[in-house]
Amino acid sequence: MYDCIIVGGGPAGMAAAIYLARQQLHFAMFTGEIGGQVVYSSDVENYLGLPDLSGVELVQKFQAHLEHYQDQFELHENEKVSEITRLEKGFGIKTAKGVYKTKTILITTGSKHRRLNIPGEKELERKGVTFCATCDAPLFRDKDVAIVGGGNSAMDAALFAEKYSSKIHLININEQLMGDDVMKAKVTASRKIVIHNQHKTLRIEGKDHVEAVVIASEDGKEESLPVEGVFIEIGLVPVADFIDFVEKDRRKQIVIDKLNLTNVEGVYAAGDVTDVSEKQIAVSVGEGSKAALSIIKYLGSKADG
Ligand SMILES: Cc1cc2nc3c(=O)[nH]c(=O)nc-3n(C[C@H](O)[C@H](O)[C@H](O)COP(=O)(O)OP(=O)(O)OC[C@H]3O[C@@H](n4cnc5c(N)ncnc54)[C@H](O)[C@@H]3O)c2cc1C
Repeated sequence: MYDCIIVGGGPAGMAAAIYLARQQLHFAMFTGEIGGQVVYSSDVENYLGLPDLSGVELVQKFQAHLEHYQDQFELHENEKVSEITRLEKGFGIKTAKGVYKTKTILITTGSKHRRLNIPGEKELERKGVTFCATCDAPLFRDKDVAIVGGGNSAMDAALFAEKYSSKIHLININEQLMGDDVMKAKVTASRKIVIHNQHKTLRIEGKDHVEAVVIASEDGKEESLPVEGVFIEIGLVPVADFIDFVEKDRRKQIVIDKLNLTNVEGVYAAGDVTDVSEKQIAVSVGEGSKAALSIIKYLGSKADG
């Protein structure tokens, strides 16, 4: 039986692995693609000490660090967990290759951005289509961009993009913007932000890079907006379907306490999959590290007892 199984190999999982390895715990990590969402970031400019790296380069740095400890734990890359069950003692982790037993679990399976599923979205991803305005807005300095969404994240993105872009089209499918009144007032007052309420986003066009976004009004009238960037801000979906016995909030995020413990003894979670409010690499690294330290203390207390 393992001391711990880390489910997920993004920033939170990788940071946790380093702490667990340094304590020489018997553990394994199961993950899809190592690096998580970071590999989709064109440029990461806000990670302390490592400015000007692409997401892929940052993941390579994380991996190089992890490789110092590679003989101290089992890395099961491209082996995703399909189910977690409670056993009389510990937990069972099911993958396509087998069932593994563990005393504790750390869930770090992150989140994925909700997609529009329209033509051009996938083809032009990282070529002007982005799912993280906070991260990528500075790359669109003096350019026209579109933000799809009408809630707090979309308004927040529009106000952030206002610092960089010349014109921001806010494309909202609903009759009105929904969310914080202060933000609504700022967005409405902005001379740079053009609000397109009750408009559907039909497709994103461009050859090698985004050139336009095509929208349609309620009566079906189409309009092509010439933009170089499209930020899709219609929400995040946590990846936690494989576990049904821990508490989740209404957004299906795993609820944790200050020690990263869920409502079930022995089950911890960290990063984007949890109800922490900020979804960022540095936050996930910190949360993953904190969760690992909690697990180390918990296992130590069990051994002492
Ligand atoms: C396009 C884009 C750009 C971004 N740019 C920035 C930026 O510049 N700066 C910044 O701070 N943040 C940025 N972010 C946000 C940042 O990437 C996330 O906050 C961070 O990666 C979350 O880390 P995590 O470890 O919690 O989860 P994730 O990075 O989502 O990693 C989750 C891991 O879990 C694995 N997994 C999923 N399901 C399973 C399963 N069933 N079994 C096993 N493993 C599983 C995945 O393969 C993945 O390895 C960006 C996000 C995106 C999408």
